Amino acid sequence: MSFGDCIFCKIASGEIPTAKVHEDDLCVAFNDLDPQAPTHILLIPRHHIDSIAKAENGDQETLGHLLLTAGEIARNRGFDEDGYRIVINTNSDGGQTVFHLHVHLLAGRKMTFPPG
Ligand code: 5GP
Ligand code: ZN
Repeated sequence: MSFGDCIFCKIASGEIPTAKVHEDDLCVAFNDLDPQAPTHILLIPRHHIDSIAKAENGDQETLGHLLLTAGEIARNRGFDEDGYRIVINTNSDGGQTVFHLHVHLLAGRKMTFPPG
C-alpha cells in the first residue's frame, strides 16, 4: 500500500477529519472506530511506519514518545490506579489490520490475559 492510500496517514494529516484526543509534532491520538473497551484510543506516529516489524533505529524517539504519550493520556484520564493495557498488534498472527503502526490504549474494564 502506498502512503497516499493509508487511512491513518489521512487521519494524521487531517485529510480525513477525525476528532483528536491529543496531537503534537510526533503523534496523533484519536478514538478507535470500533471500541473494545470503554476507553479505546489509538496513537499513531505522524510519519508512516508500516509496523513494529518495519521500524528502524531512527524511529526510536517516535516509538518512545508514543508509549510515554499513551501513559500520559491514561494518567490524565485517571486510569493510573486501576490500570490499563497498551497493545501493538503486528502483522498477520498479531492481528494487525491497518499497516500504519499504532498503539492501542485500552482502559475502563478488567482485561484478561493472554489475549485471544
Ligand atoms: P489493528 O487491528 O491493526 O491493530 O487495529 C486497527 C484499529 O483501527 C481497529 O481497532 C479499528 O477499529 C481501527 N480503525 C480502522 N479504521 C479506522 C478509522 O477509519 N477510524 C478510526 N477511528 N479507527 C479505525
Ligand atoms: Zn500511514
